[in-house]
Amino acid sequence: MSEKIIYLDSKDFEKEVINSDIPVILDFFSEDCPPCDVLLPIFEKMADKYEGHIKFVKIMRQDNRELASKLGVTGSPTVLFFNKGKEVGSRLSGFMTKPQVRIAIEDILGDVLPPATIERVDCDLLILGAGPAGLAAGLYAGRAKLNTVIVEASVCGGQAATTYHVANYPGTKGAVNGKDLANNIKEQALSFGVRIDDLKEIFEVRLEGDTKFIRTEDTEYYAKAIILATGARPRTLDAVGASEMKGRGVHYCATCDGAMYEGLNLIVIGGGSSAIEEAIFLTRFAEHVTLIHRREGFRAAQVEIDEARENKKISFLTNKVVLEVKAGEFVLKEVVIKDVITGEVGAIPVEGAFVYIGNDPQTEMFAGQINLDAGGFIIAGEDTRTDVKGVFAAGDVRTKEIRQIATATSDGAVASVMAEKFIASIK
Ligand code: NAP
Repeated sequence: MSEKIIYLDSKDFEKEVINSDIPVILDFFSEDCPPCDVLLPIFEKMADKYEGHIKFVKIMRQDNRELASKLGVTGSPTVLFFNKGKEVGSRLSGFMTKPQVRIAIEDILGDVLPPATIERVDCDLLILGAGPAGLAAGLYAGRAKLNTVIVEASVCGGQAATTYHVANYPGTKGAVNGKDLANNIKEQALSFGVRIDDLKEIFEVRLEGDTKFIRTEDTEYYAKAIILATGARPRTLDAVGASEMKGRGVHYCATCDGAMYEGLNLIVIGGGSSAIEEAIFLTRFAEHVTLIHRREGFRAAQVEIDEARENKKISFLTNKVVLEVKAGEFVLKEVVIKDVITGEVGAIPVEGAFVYIGNDPQTEMFAGQINLDAGGFIIAGEDTRTDVKGVFAAGDVRTKEIRQIATATSDGAVASVMAEKFIASIK
C-alpha cells in the first residue's frame, strides 16, 4: 500500500479534501470491484509521479454511503477532482486507463513534470499485452531461453482478471477467480526469466522491418520479433443519455455495482455469455432483471440460457434495442426501447442498466501497419502469423471463432513457438 495515498472516512473529508491547500484526486472505491483493482496500481504510480502537486485520496464507498450519495456517487470506482474546496474537471468512472487518469490530472495541474529519461531495452522477443495470451506466450518464450519482455498498458491479467468465476479453464479443479488464474500464469512466466513492464503508456509501435519497436513514456524497446496480444475492451452502449449516466444508472460491472440495486428493477443488455451470466448474478440483489437482446437467437451457450429461463426473477425481451436511458432523481427512471421488427417504441421503468454487448479489439495503434478485418481484429490464422514478417497475433485480438481463456493461452503458446522459429531462421 502506497504511503502517498490517503485513505479517508467521511469525517475527514472536509479537512483533507475541501480544505486541502493543493488539488485533490478522490477515488470512491468498493470491495469486490475489478475496475477498482485496476485503478489502485494506476493511483499508486501516479501518486509517486505527482507527489507534492496533487493529493491522492481514497474513500471506501460502502462505508461512506451518506457522503457518496451527497456527492451523487453511485458507482465504483468514481474519481472526482477538487481544487480550492470545489469540485472541478470531469468525473471518471468504471474501468479507467492510465492515460485517462493522467490526462484528467494534467487538465487540472497543467504540464508540471520534467521530461522523463528514456531507457533503451534490446531483446529477442517483445510481447504487447499481458492478458492470458501474452502471459502464456511469455512463459513459453522464457522457457525457450528467449530474452523476452512483455509490455502492458494496464495491469496484468487482461479481461480474464476481471472475471470472478472461471469454470471452464482446464486443470483448475472447479471454478477459479480469473485474477488468481492470470496471476498464476504471470508467476510462471516470471519464473522463466521473462521481464514484465506493466502500466506503460504506449505512444508508438513500429512493426515493419527487421527490428520491431515500441516507445512508451520512459522506455524504448527493440526486438527481432513481436507478438501482439492486446486483447479487447468492452463495447459501450450507444444510446441517448448512456455516457452521461455511466456509473449513475448505466453500469458495466455487476460485481462492482449490483449490490446497490437491492430490491430494485434492472435491465441487462446483450445476448452473449456475459449478459446471461451477469443477469443471473444480479438476481441476488434485484427484484427483477429484464434481459434485452437485439435479436431472437442468443450467442450464449444453451445451458446458460436454460438456467436464466428457469430463474423466476429474469424475463426476456428479444428483438429490442435501447434507444435512450432517462435519469431519475438518483439513478435511472426508465429506458426507451424499440422493437426492431415492428418499429414500435415504448418505455420500461427501471432503476439501473448493465451493459454486456461484446468487445472491440485494441488495435488502433497497429492501423495501417498490419492487415485488420472490418471489425478491427488482426487477420492471422491458427499459426498466429500476420502479413508482416516477424509479427504474430495471439488471443482475443486475432480473427477467430471462439474467444475463451483456453483459446487465448493456446494462441500464446503457438505464437511463442512460431516467433522462436522465426528468430532462429534469421540468425
Ligand atoms: P459476445 O459473445 O460478443 O456477445 C455480445 C452480445 O451483445 C451479442 O449477443 C450481440 O448481439 C450483442 N450486441 C453487440 N453489439 C450490440 C449493440 N451495439 N447493441 C446491442 N447488442 C449488441 O460478448 P460476451 O458475452 O462479452 O462474450 C465475449 C467472449 O467471451 C465470447 O467469446 C464468449 O464466449 C466469452 N465468454 C465466455 C464465458 C464462459 O465461457 N463462461 C463467459 C463470458 C464470456 P448479436 O448476437 O446480435 O451480435
